[in-house]
Formats: sequence, structure tokens, C-alpha cells
Amino acid sequence: MKNTLLERRNHLLGEHAPLFYDKPLTLIKGEGVWLSDAEGKRYLDVYNNVPNVGHCHPHVVEALQRQASQINVHSRYLHPALVEYGEQLTASFDPKLSMLFPTCSGSEANELALRMARQHTGNMGIICSNATYHGNTAAVDELATLFNGGEAKGPNVKAVNYPDSYRPLNGLRGEALTQAYVQQIKNTIAEFQDSDIGFAGLLFCPIFANEGLPDVPEHYMKQVAKLVRDAGGLLIFDEVQSGFGRTGDMWAFQHIDVVPDIVVLGKPMGNGHPLAGLVCDQALGKEFRSQVMYFNTFAGNPVSCAVGKAVLDVIENENLLENCRNVGGYLKQQLQQLSSHYEVIGDVRGSGLFFGVELVKDRNNKTPSALAAAHIVNRMKDRGVLISKIGVHDNILKMRPPICFGREHADILLNELGQVLNEVSREGLL
Ligand code: PMP
Repeated sequence: MKNTLLERRNHLLGEHAPLFYDKPLTLIKGEGVWLSDAEGKRYLDVYNNVPNVGHCHPHVVEALQRQASQINVHSRYLHPALVEYGEQLTASFDPKLSMLFPTCSGSEANELALRMARQHTGNMGIICSNATYHGNTAAVDELATLFNGGEAKGPNVKAVNYPDSYRPLNGLRGEALTQAYVQQIKNTIAEFQDSDIGFAGLLFCPIFANEGLPDVPEHYMKQVAKLVRDAGGLLIFDEVQSGFGRTGDMWAFQHIDVVPDIVVLGKPMGNGHPLAGLVCDQALGKEFRSQVMYFNTFAGNPVSCAVGKAVLDVIENENLLENCRNVGGYLKQQLQQLSSHYEVIGDVRGSGLFFGVELVKDRNNKTPSALAAAHIVNRMKDRGVLISKIGVHDNILKMRPPICFGREHADILLNELGQVLNEVSREGLL
């Protein structure tokens, strides 16, 4: 007889099904940046990027309810919702990125991006970073280097070191560092080209979110883009984490002044509703459509599109990009202040409302402290603030709240974090 919710869940899904915290949380209500558990305890959400415009935003909920009460059907009939949503979405991109392929998850969208690159080039070789995750389909899983010791799986994918200024390759700095990382891309393209596999493209998250939000050496991305294109490959940016305003601009690639061939979208796109997709170059999309029958039953249905449109409306109507820049700027500055008080903070990184705070045992050697990170994440939860951690050393605090996060929320976060950092220093939890 299975009694508790946890036991019943374990029986149903298996005990290795991912679950946060040693003592898991049962969350039953969300509103704005707040979540409540079954006992009515409130938590400030500084982790979840999917409910980007706020949990259960009334405008999004209303749009979903309204469309669900009218019709929901697959996309092989005409319906204005898909066209109107797609036009509004693609208007936020460079004019050449004007074609939309809706999907239901980021994984599916990345899978489709790989198919497009391979179909277009007739080659199979894909470059990714050595500490990444892009999703769970068989082809995309070959890129899941974060969970495979930095190695890509199979012959068709090769991983290069992600660009990092805090733990730089061979201890290099400045232009020499950029060139060292660029050289890896050059070599890897050449290895593909010299084999039967050939080179199809490169897939990066433009802010290297799963890698731990490194400060990317200057001009790296521009040079990478040029190398990829010169070799006839496609440049794919996975904006599943970085898109829809997270960095303070609608798309993270706007910061690096490089326009990709394909942009992959997901998580915040439906504010919790399973909505994802890719936006691509018009000529590329048309070519793919003419050669491959691609249909996705649930993708682009009127309810999903009504939700997606409501999300875009809220971002605009509530000036959430500006909010993200303002509150994010304040928060980053305050986190940097904290780092001047606590030796355990080795580095503060990020932009908009997405931060990585790297914890170290000592600043000189930059020895990672996974213990401090685990302690802080759990103690913050006890104190009513949800954050998480990332990175190959599991030592980077990850903070990524809904982008309606206000200054008053930032102050709560900072206050609680300061208290927990005091505990870490006092008790020497390194
Ligand atoms: N791309 C990135 C950068 C991600 O972080 C994730 C999920 N964490 C995915 C793709 C996969 O998205 P989904 O879980 O919706 O398939």
C-alpha cells in the first residue's frame, strides 16, 4: 500500500524521476512571482523562467480559457490564431527570420533544427559545447554533454570547450583567449570536413545558460558565425532559456550582433502551456517544407497560439523588457556588492534577470565549492526563496525569476541570501 504522495509518485514514475530538494516541495498555487505549498507557506520564485510573465497571469489564463471554449484542433485547417500569433512573433526578429515551425517542446524544436541543417547541407556533423543540454530526443541527446562528462555521443556530434573568461582555456586572456576558442571551432569543422560525415552546423545557446552563464570572450561569437557560414554550415541558436526577454532584450542574440539561420524557442513561450518552435530564414524554411513532410499534431493549435499571443501582449503591455533591465541591473550590482563581503563568491555573472553566482573555497585557486552551493539552495528554500544551481562543478547559484520580478522582490532575495551567506562563513561550509 503506497501512502504518501512521494511514495505513490515513486511507484508510478520511478524513484530516479527528477525531483528538487532533499525534502521535496508540494506546490499547489502560483501567482505572479509567488508560489504556495500545501501548508500555505509562500515562496518567492527566483528559479522559474517558464512562467516568464508571472505564474497564472490573468490575461494568459483568460486567453486560454476563451479559446479552449471555442475550438481546439490541429493545424491542417485554417485558423486565424496561428497566423496572427506567428506574424506577431516573427515581427520581433530580423526580417530574414520570418518563418515559424511550431512544436510542443524545446527538444522537438532542436530536433527539427538539426534535421533542417542536415537536410540543407547533406552533411551530418554538428558542433555543440562541452557542458550543454538541448533536450531529450535521440538526436538531441547526442549533444547532452553536461550529463556525459563533456563528451558528445556518437560520431555525428563533436563538442568544443564553451567560452569562459573565469576559468579560461590554458589560462589565456584577451585576444589570445578568443583565438584559442575560435581555433577549436576551426579544427572541429576541418575534422568533420575531412571525414565522410561533413559539416552541417553549430548549435549554441547564445548565453551558454546550461554551461553556467560564462562571460564570453570578446568577438568570439562573431568569429564563430563567420567560420560556420564560410564552411557552408547553419548557425543555430537555442533561445529556449535566453529568449522572450530574459536578458533584457527580446532575444539574447541581439546582444552579440549575430543573426543566426535558425532560432529555437521554448520554455517561456507559453508561460507554462507546452508551446515551443523554431523561427528560421525564409528560404531555408521553404526549402525544407518542399523536401520533407513535417507535421506535428498538437503544435500550433488555436489554444496554444492564443496563449502565445497573450504572453507577447503581456511582455509589451507591462514593459517587461524594461523591467528586466532595470531590476536586473539593480540586482546584479547588489550581488556584486555581496561578493565584496563574502569570500565564497568567486564570480557574479549574467544579464537581464538571469544570474550565475560562482562559489569557491578560495578565490586564488578558484576551487569550486559544491557544498556551499547545495547548502545555500536548501537553506534559501527553508527561508522561503527558491533558487537552484548549475555548472559542471555544481557550484554556481542559478537565479532566474519570472521577468515581472520587482525591486521589492530583489530586496527579499538579497536579504535572505545575505543571511545564508553569513551561515556559510560562520560555519565554514565549504
Ligand atoms: N534547450 C535548452 C537550452 C534547455 O535548457 C532545455 C531544457 N532545459 C531544452 C532545450 C529542452 O526543452 P524541453 O524540456 O521543452 O524539451
